[in-house]
Order: sequence, then C-alpha cells, then structure tokens
Amino acid sequence: MHAIRGDKYDAIIIGAGMGGLSCGAWLAHKGMKVLVVEQNVQAGGFCSSYKRNGFNFTPAASVLTGCTKKNSIFLRLTQRLGIEKEIEFIPIEHCYHVHLPDFDYYIHSGGEEARQKFIEQIIKLFPHETKGINAFFDTLVKFYHQADYATFLGTKPMDLARILLKCPTLVKSMGKTIGPFVDDYVTDPKLKAVLTMNATCAFLPPSRASLMGIVMLLIEGLISNATVKGGSQVIAEAFVKSVKDNGGEVLLGSLVEKILVQDGKAYGVRVVPSPLAISEGKVSGSGKGEEILGTHIVSNVAARQTFQKLIDADKVDRKYLQRLDTLEPTGPFCALFLGLDMDLKKMGFTPALHVHSSTYDLKEHFRGLASKMVDEQGPDPCFRFHLAPLSDPTSAPEGKSAFMMHYIPAPSAGWDDPEREKKVVDLMIKRAEKVVPGLSKHIVYQEFWSPLTVDKFSLSGQDASMGWAITPEQIGPKRLAQQTPIKNLLLSGHWTRPALGVLSVVISGLQAARMILESEGIGEPLADLGIRKGLMSH
Ligand SMILES: Cc1cc2nc3c(=O)[nH]c(=O)nc-3n(C[C@H](O)[C@H](O)[C@H](O)COP(=O)(O)OP(=O)(O)OC[C@H]3O[C@@H](n4cnc5c(N)ncnc54)[C@H](O)[C@@H]3O)c2cc1C
Repeated sequence: MHAIRGDKYDAIIIGAGMGGLSCGAWLAHKGMKVLVVEQNVQAGGFCSSYKRNGFNFTPAASVLTGCTKKNSIFLRLTQRLGIEKEIEFIPIEHCYHVHLPDFDYYIHSGGEEARQKFIEQIIKLFPHETKGINAFFDTLVKFYHQADYATFLGTKPMDLARILLKCPTLVKSMGKTIGPFVDDYVTDPKLKAVLTMNATCAFLPPSRASLMGIVMLLIEGLISNATVKGGSQVIAEAFVKSVKDNGGEVLLGSLVEKILVQDGKAYGVRVVPSPLAISEGKVSGSGKGEEILGTHIVSNVAARQTFQKLIDADKVDRKYLQRLDTLEPTGPFCALFLGLDMDLKKMGFTPALHVHSSTYDLKEHFRGLASKMVDEQGPDPCFRFHLAPLSDPTSAPEGKSAFMMHYIPAPSAGWDDPEREKKVVDLMIKRAEKVVPGLSKHIVYQEFWSPLTVDKFSLSGQDASMGWAITPEQIGPKRLAQQTPIKNLLLSGHWTRPALGVLSVVISGLQAARMILESEGIGEPLADLGIRKGLMSH
C-alpha cells in the first residue's frame, strides 16, 4: 500500500532538467505550491556537472548559447528570481575550434563584431565565394531576428497572422534544411562543410537538419556563448534554490513511476526511490513509495516515457500514441571523462568545443558508426573535445585539466559487451593522443559513459539524448505541443516546443508555467519578464 501525502500541490513537475526547473521556479515565484521530482541524485539533467577526484566534468551542456546576450530571457528570468548572482558566466571568445583535414577555423562569439570576424575568416579561406558568403549571412541574420520575434508567440490565429506579416524570411525558409539552403549561396564543397558544420552538433547530417534550428545555434552562438564558473551544475542549483526559497520542494533520487489519471485528467503522481539513488545508497525518506496529488502536472521527461510508461496505454488517445511512434529522437552519444595531469590551456588549447572531422562530406559522420568506433585502420569518426571549461579555474586542480571527449552521435546498440566497450575507449584515447601528444601517460582519472550510462542518469532512452531531432518536420509549430490529450498534463523540455538546448528548454518551462497560471485566471503571467501577449519587449 502506498502512503498518501497529505498536501495537494498546485503543480508537480516530473524531472529537474532546466525545462522543469524553470517552470517550477516561475510557478513558485508566482506563489504556487510546487513540487519537482527528480530520479537522479542531483538536479540539472543534461545541464549538470559531475565532480570526480578534484575534476569537474560537464558531460552535456557546457556552452550556454544565447543566455548572456543583452536583455536575454535567461538574464531577465534569473534577475526576477533573484538568482543572477549565483551564476557567474565566463564569456567564450571562440565557441568552436573546428579541425578539418587541411585547415582549421574558429566560430567566434560576442556580438556583431564576432560575427564579422567569423565572416572575414571564412572569406579569407574562400575568397572566390565572397559574394555568396555575405548573402548567406545576410539572410541568416534576417531569419534569426524574425525567429527571435516569434519565440513567445503561440499558434492562435492572431499569432500566426503576426508571423505571416512580420516574418517573411522565416515563413519562406522555415521548412528547409541547412544543406540545400547553403547550395543556393556557395559551390565549394569545403566551404559547404564549414557553413553546415553546426548540423553535426544537432546529431544530424546537413541534408536533414532544420535551417531554423541551425540558425539559432549559429547566429545566436555568434552573438553570445558562455560557460559557467563551477560547471553547468551551478545553473541547476541556482534554480533549485529559487524553487525552495519560494516555498517549493525538490525531491531528488525519486522516480515517478506513474502519472495518476482518471476520467482523462491527471491528478497526481506515484513516486518511488529511484534505482539510481538506491545503487548510490542515497535513498531519502522512508524509502517507500507514495502517491502525491497535484492540480497540474508537468512532464519534463522523455515524451515517450511519459506516454508509453508513466500512463496506462488505455488512458491515452490512440492517435497521439501512434504519432509518438512516428517521431524521431536525437541519437545517443558516448563520453569519455579524463582527468589529466597536464595543463592544456598552457599548452595552447583554446577553451572551446573542438570538433575534429576527417572528411568534408558531413554525411560520412553518420555512416558505419559502429564499425568506425573500433576500426583503427579506417577513417576516424567525427569526435569532439569539450574544452570550454579550460576557461574555468575551478574545473581542475592547478596544473591539471578536465578533458571530455564525445562521439556525437554514437550507435545505440552493442554496449552490453564489455570487451567491445574497452576497445572503443582504448581507441578514443589513441585518437585523442593524436591531438594531445603524450595524453595516455597523463591520465589520473578515467570514466566512460556509453549510451547505457547516459540513460541511467537521464532516463532519455538509450537511443536518444536531446529530445526530438531538429528536422523541419519536428521544429517550430510542427514540434510536439506542450498541451497533451490528458487534461492538466503539460510537457516542457526538449521533447516539446520550441527546441533543444538550455535556453530553449527554459523557454518551454516558462511557457508551461504561463499556461498553468492563465488556466488559474492570472492574465499575462510573464509580464514581469517583459513578455506580454506573446511578444517580448527588447
Ligand atoms: C552531449 C550534449 C551536449 C549538449 N551541449 C549543449 C550546450 O553546449 N549548450 C546547450 O544549451 N545545450 C546543450 N545540450 C542540450 C541541452 O543540454 C538539453 O537540451 C537540455 O539541458 C535539456 O533539458 P530538459 O529540461 O529538456 O531535460 P533533461 O535535462 O533531460 O532533464 C530531464 C530530467 O528528468 C529526469 N527524469 C527522467 N525520468 C524521470 C522520472 N520518471 N521521474 C523523475 N525524474 C525523471 C532525468 O533524470 C533528468 O534529470 C547538449 C546535450 C547533449 C546531450
């Protein structure tokens, strides 16, 4: 028999990723009684850091795109919540350092000036394409401003009319992918690789990555990118503090195993100690399961988990379930954490995300991944080092470096064979050593996360990581809506609108909070963030 918590919450949020935390923090700030339930023993989801032997590793979101731009919604939010001083951003001058077979280049960050520097750098590499490069960026910048304008608009007729009227470039190109879009501007295949490289960050070949998603990554990234002193965990902790300071609760190490639904309406959750908390010996409370009642439920966890596991199938509209089966998740990744007793910054490595590609044909990254990972003779798969934390003195002890290597994406199958995993890791170290000479002799800490490990920490599913892939069919108004067929159940996070990435999921959290507050009769609930009738004041 499950115990029943006496109190009923105004809102229960499942999952303390940044989508859930921003929703919870805003609702608590507005006076609602909020509970956030998280299966991991720490908050943050993919916006978190793991401390190991004096090193601080940030396995996913290490570069915060768009958060620090002047007057950004992220800054407005943290200021309103009174937590802006908890988060010390370190601006990144070079967001990406991309290494191609016969040249390397940077993607800068820091406003108009950075964009100009980036464009000049590319023109220097490809002077014969000057006209096309300039025209390409002119269109992208227009597209970006129109997408920014439409960020908080919904899908009501009035909102759509505004978009049609004010956003012609957005409307014209929204359904395109970055690959064919670039073809309209330039012809050199090496330049095309440069202009479409960001697609690989979305785990997609350029022919499939939505132009809209890539514009937000590239143009917003050129405006502002930053890392955080103390790692991304600091951001999550600041939002947890805000929830608690406003009377809310955050229950860690607790798995929601059921969303309680009756007559088509969600009314609570059943919570048990999570297997992760049990395995780490961190079960809090009585260790028994309990049913907790809430007026509104927000699921910030994988949409497939929400509707295929947490709710009985006979309680969900069949067509909705069928639609979920047709959607495509972003692929999984694997990560190697290395604590090195060498100072990579002093050795000249840029604090940036380093992308190494052995080909200009970016489609190649997605072919034969499973064999490339264990084939020493064949071409290297695309790999990347997340070295942005080099700019954070707290990421490693003096003279040492936290080194994070990724295969993005990684194959989802084949990870239950420890021999194969060892081969993958050994080869990752060999590949890393080609870039950092002598690296293997300086490893003082080592940990590997396969997609199975990532799933243990995130419950995203071992074939997924960043929510739905950002293809044209799954972005903007075509992305799974926050409203669900179950009454009083909303979605937030990267499995719903607007997209993936910390800034996007914070927006989804705010939108979920807005829907809840509006349903309680509170008009313009984001007005104190400068957002009225879906429009953000600049
Ligand atoms: C490798 C990688 C690199 C990235 N780099 C960047 C970057 O540099 N910059 C950037 O902005 N974004 C980056 N992203 C994307 C960004 O991290 C995510 O889009 C964002 O953090 C997702 O937040 P979320 O709130 O949607 O969900 P999540 O972070 O997935 O949070 C969901 C939470 O729900 C919990 N949970 C799941 N099921 C249950 C349950 N049943 N009960 C209780 N709790 C549950 C999970 O443990 C998790 O904590 C990266 C992502 C990846 C994978």
